[in-house]
Amino acid sequence: MPLLTRVRRLFGTSHVIHECRRCGTKLDGEFDTCSNCDSDDIARYDIG
Ligand SMILES: [Zn+2]
Repeated sequence: MPLLTRVRRLFGTSHVIHECRRCGTKLDGEFDTCSNCDSDDIARYDIG
């Protein structure tokens, strides 16, 4: 597991939305790549 992911989990990710910039898929959780199209261009929206 990447260090950055572990740090984020310490602080919680419940207020961060991840969305693939290529296909627009909403990703539930911490992702580095899109589960739909395998793109690594993931947008993060911090709504907390
Ligand atoms: Zn995608």
